[in-house]
Amino acid sequence: MSNLNDLCPLCNSPLKDPEETKTGKKLQRCSKGVWNPQTHQTEGCLYVKWINDDIKTLKEECPKCGSPLVEMKTKSGKKMKKCSNSGWDREKMVATGCDYVEWLDTKKKELDEDCPTCGAKLVEITTNKGIKMKKCSTAGWDREFRQATGCTYVQWMK
Ligand SMILES: [Zn+2]
Ligand SMILES: [Zn+2]
Ligand SMILES: [Zn+2]
Repeated sequence: MSNLNDLCPLCNSPLKDPEETKTGKKLQRCSKGVWNPQTHQTEGCLYVKWINDDIKTLKEECPKCGSPLVEMKTKSGKKMKKCSNSGWDREKMVATGCDYVEWLDTKKKELDEDCPTCGAKLVEITTNKGIKMKKCSTAGWDREFRQATGCTYVQWMK
């Protein structure tokens, strides 16, 4: 299903021959993209076309670095959008490149209601189990320290 005459949608250069990652995923990189083993980042054009059915390159740009986003499913069946400029350093066991991830299982709706704790706007969140809750829009998650950040106001809805 791969077409070797495909052109990169970002820079119109031809794509390279399909290659396979260590995890068995097939992809085609742009011929203008060069992997730099020193910085563990792709330099030049960052376009990657995933040939596997379960990974889709989106026409959306990463809000952090501007690379195309890809949509994929995790092993547990969760859907997410990820930056195509991200990778995994197997030697050092650390993520490399851009760390932007957007989970698609929860639906978010901005509300015109103020948080009773801090006055910021509330958002309505529907989890993938169909449970609705209102949360403060300043709430976040610190990946490094594994703790919630911002306002902790939550209101569960019936
Ligand atoms: Zn390109
Ligand atoms: Zn990015
Ligand atoms: Zn709040």
